[in-house]
Amino acid sequence: LFSGRVEFLLSAPQLKFLPDPTVPEIAFCGRSNVGKSSLLNALTGRKAIARASVTPGRTQELNFFEVGEPTLFRLVDMPGYGFAKAPVKVVERWKNLVKSYLRGRQVLARNLVLVDSRHGLKEVDREMMRMLDEAAVGYRIVLTKADKIKASDLERVANSVADEARKHPAAFPELHLTSAEKGMGIAALRAAVVADALG
Ligand code: GDP
Repeated sequence: LFSGRVEFLLSAPQLKFLPDPTVPEIAFCGRSNVGKSSLLNALTGRKAIARASVTPGRTQELNFFEVGEPTLFRLVDMPGYGFAKAPVKVVERWKNLVKSYLRGRQVLARNLVLVDSRHGLKEVDREMMRMLDEAAVGYRIVLTKADKIKASDLERVANSVADEARKHPAAFPELHLTSAEKGMGIAALRAAVVADALG
């Protein structure tokens, strides 16, 4: 399915620029540098459908990509969070945009919360998870860059993240362990995304 059409649709800096809610949406979020662009590229089999966080302005927008011909669903690249140097105003704007999108978007079928395998959950991730819990948007937790750490460390981080996930009402209990670089876990995650969107 992803081998068919995947096309950038638009960037929405504010809610009024959202596309018409005509198809299901699967949204991706995570801290800046978590590997979100790499994962989106790996899932879609494109080299650069999502450009690695280049233009600072662009990082505050919701980026929509359409999948299928005719369009079956959309992938939504949410702005990265937890950027240490972000001014308070920028963070506030981000929260407002994301919160209203999560609460008001009827077609939002699932969220994917990306977490760096080396770091595990940080406070900003927990905050994101609470926002998703409150908006009652079901989410999968995806550990990224799994190739970067030893198997024993990966297991330890995965267990601790899974323990926490169980306390969050909207989180799926099973994690996805992935490496965009090595292709690990990508096919399974792609299947889960398609099932979430169309199931
Ligand atoms: P974004 O800011 O969340 O979009 O993150 P990027 O996709 O730009 O990735 C941030 C950095 O991590 C880049 O240098 C990537 O090459 C690297 N990276 C992303 N995914 C992986 C992975 O699976 N394995 C390894 N080793 N590096 C990765």
